[in-house]
Amino acid sequence: MNITDLSVHELVEKLENKELTRKEILNAYIDRINEKEDEVKAFVTILDKEALNKLDDIQEKIDNGEIKNRLAGIPIGIKDNMCTKGIKTTCSSKMLENFVSPYDATVIEKLNEENLINLGKLNMDEFAMGGSTEHSYFKKTRNPWNLERVPGGSSGGSAAAVAAGMVPWALGSDTGGSIRQPASFCGVVGLKPTYGLVSRYGLVAFASSLDQIGPITKDVKDSAILLNIIAGHDKKDTTSVDMPKKDYVKALKNDVKGLKIGVPKEFLAEGTNKEVKEKIEEAIKIYKDLGATVEEISLDVAKYSLATYYIIACAEASSNLGRFDGIRYGYRAKDYKDLNELFKKSRSEGFGDEVKRRIILGTYVLSSGYYDAYYKKAQKVRTLVMNEFDKAFEKYDVILTPTSPTVAFKIGEKTSDPLQMYLSDICTVSVNIAGLPGISIPCGVDSNNMPIGMQLIGNKFQEETILNAAYTFEQKFKFREKYKPEFKNS
Ligand code: GLN
Repeated sequence: MNITDLSVHELVEKLENKELTRKEILNAYIDRINEKEDEVKAFVTILDKEALNKLDDIQEKIDNGEIKNRLAGIPIGIKDNMCTKGIKTTCSSKMLENFVSPYDATVIEKLNEENLINLGKLNMDEFAMGGSTEHSYFKKTRNPWNLERVPGGSSGGSAAAVAAGMVPWALGSDTGGSIRQPASFCGVVGLKPTYGLVSRYGLVAFASSLDQIGPITKDVKDSAILLNIIAGHDKKDTTSVDMPKKDYVKALKNDVKGLKIGVPKEFLAEGTNKEVKEKIEEAIKIYKDLGATVEEISLDVAKYSLATYYIIACAEASSNLGRFDGIRYGYRAKDYKDLNELFKKSRSEGFGDEVKRRIILGTYVLSSGYYDAYYKKAQKVRTLVMNEFDKAFEKYDVILTPTSPTVAFKIGEKTSDPLQMYLSDICTVSVNIAGLPGISIPCGVDSNNMPIGMQLIGNKFQEETILNAAYTFEQKFKFREKYKPEFKNS
């Protein structure tokens, strides 16, 4: 048995049957990090020693009956834009290279209540802006399926670490696809919850009306388990929704009979890679065989989603990132004549190119004279996109699309052309614009053994529906039994 190949629920089962100990599990993950991190480069901070100490503490409390959680002692990886008390939170930026948060994000508090162990902070595109993790100030994370390719982004460190077996699961964040697209590129499961289901308190803000934290896992059941932990109302986040807690694991019925699935033709049109399209069509066939009804639909406004997303996301980013002024947080330039030069130099030296590009674009679309033409118009289109999804969900339970139009691309392939990079979000951004839940699950590989992801979108707070649809497909398709990352070098 290879411990680092197991999902979390499989690990817990083996713990309960006394086939494994918590120490064996943690050591296996630490060994795996030592073996693979040089190749994959998924971590910004590795917390192996801290994790071992924490486990000793937890084990003692388990032994004397103080701790009873089933998940106690299981490691987890955290995207480096979630605040962790006493541990660096860098957002993979020079600006926050040495920033240590004085408090834990709400999601981290929730993991602590379960006695999960933080095994490290994971690499990302700087401030979560990007789709390949190449915009990290520290390093470029590699895709475990092929080390010359990107892992996707911006949660590329999280997806790569899970795919490489360096952590059993991880948290990512998703503003326009940053959980789902890397999950798709790395052959793992990524869930972006409904806006408001998971607290954003302590998540370093990129675009506050779009950001959500969610699980990146080996399988759908783990996704449901982790969502059970992190979902819930939080007084510290005014956009978090107060509603009764659900048990997402209970929703996994392995049955989609009667489920109504809509497939928007716009998402399989020109620009979608042929092999991606083929695998999505095979997945549709599997759903039909399982008793779901599948129909082609049209989401016409979706074609404006990408433009709308980049206007809104950049506008909000330009405002959110105003706080990094060289005084309150992070990097401060060494030489400056006066206060204005301190601001200017700290920001010029502390931010990378992609972040600057977005701040400039965002400031532009919010400036008087352009506000109505860009920002206000984008907000109107946002409403149209929401209405279009509302209409679709009157008839369908789930909307099915590819997660990304292509498989993982080569490192360096898109860095010189930001527009090409932005296009890899074409299938994911509308879900954030409308605040809906979306999950990416692997549905095959292409002829180069690179994973292909399928996205299932649900109506607001209908995570149960998409999790069950994903689970039912997974039980039939058995991706993990058929395909494995090869750490290939070409
Ligand atoms: N790739 C998208 C962007 O660059 C999405 C990022 C995200 O979801 N954080 O904005």
